[in-house]
Amino acid sequence: MVADKHTSEEKEQNEKEYDVLAATQIVIHRALEKLGYPEEVYELLKEPIRMLTVRIPVRMDDGTVKIFTGYRAQHNDAVGPTKGGVRFHPNVTEREVKALSIWMSLKCGIVDLPYGGGKGGIVCDPRTMSFRELERLSRGYVRAISQIVGPTKDIPAPDVFTNSQIMAWMMDEYSRIDEFNSPGFITGKPLVLGGSHGRETATAKGVTICIREAAKKRGIDLKGARVVIQGFGNAGSFLAKFMHDAGAKVIGISDVYGALYDPNGLDIDYLLERRDSFGTVTKLFKNTITNKELLELDCDILVPAAIENQITEENAPNIKASIVVEAANGPTTLEATEILTKRGILLVPDVLASAGGVTVSYFEWVQNNQGYYWTEEEVEERLEKVMVKAFNNVYEMAQTRRVDMRLAAYMVGVRKMAEACRFRGWV
Ligand code: GLU
Repeated sequence: MVADKHTSEEKEQNEKEYDVLAATQIVIHRALEKLGYPEEVYELLKEPIRMLTVRIPVRMDDGTVKIFTGYRAQHNDAVGPTKGGVRFHPNVTEREVKALSIWMSLKCGIVDLPYGGGKGGIVCDPRTMSFRELERLSRGYVRAISQIVGPTKDIPAPDVFTNSQIMAWMMDEYSRIDEFNSPGFITGKPLVLGGSHGRETATAKGVTICIREAAKKRGIDLKGARVVIQGFGNAGSFLAKFMHDAGAKVIGISDVYGALYDPNGLDIDYLLERRDSFGTVTKLFKNTITNKELLELDCDILVPAAIENQITEENAPNIKASIVVEAANGPTTLEATEILTKRGILLVPDVLASAGGVTVSYFEWVQNNQGYYWTEEEVEERLEKVMVKAFNNVYEMAQTRRVDMRLAAYMVGVRKMAEACRFRGWV
């Protein structure tokens, strides 16, 4: 079966991967040191304050019961409730979820939201599960974590392979447990259940704003700029459209099976029409290139928008883009960050570039809490302001403290949380 095949390919790839949590801790340590915080602040922030592992029994369509493992990590709640998505993926690990929760804290700090970071994950392959099996799994997960989540405690959202339907089931399950309608329990819901305009496109919009700001710094005109995007999921596919609409030439895109390349620009509208809900489209084409070749294409802007550890010390010397904008979480290793920075490539790190999603999630939660809903224009206007400010704060930090953009982003992101911990008397 195809799904089994790519699951094993991904597993193989994952085995070669390095420890994202350890890498994150190194940068957090450096950031706190640069900001002058004592070691105990690092000791507190290097791991989530709370980590729950759950076993979820699910009745499958064939009558058997399958037990799934799920996680929910809450990194730090000094600033406010924790916030972050739930990922459904066969490669989910405890350490990865921990790292992802720390990245959520950093994102919330960078765009200045009143949240700490959280993250969830279930080890499963939704590509091989039926609609009803997914519903049962989603509801089972919420029942298993219900004691530690809630609209003022920890607010989940979509992430890799989860969507507004899954958010709707989770919201419904939580509302049953809570015994009243709780739209603010989760974000990324369908519009009719209290979702926000612009949430679905928010991550890609935020990345687009970062690309525009980075291009300005580098004197690159977006009209005609050659863009390569790795990944055609929620972030990658909308981004391809926004780049295309801005007059850029999207010359390469990819999915888990392979990549497409056309130096004259790909037909993005056609690809968007043909992609499936998991973001796969390249199977329809004969002339594909590999993901490895895609990353090394001659282009102006490269956007890894898929999974972790794609730009490593092996391929970083061959990257030809002058701007790399991370739409995925953790696509570039620390060694690769150093190489790209030394080579003068402007790197816009994940915790900044992909913060548009959680920003509009916050807007959704605010609208749920006040029961008054905004127009799409209002959402976009607010997102624009937040992202431009965040980009400039990080860029300025990098310039004034003479650090790379990733360290600068961590410094901006961790500052408020560290201060909040101090004021509360925790450290
Ligand atoms: N999963 C998204 C992220 O990694 C969004 C999280 C949210 O909206 O809370 O940023």
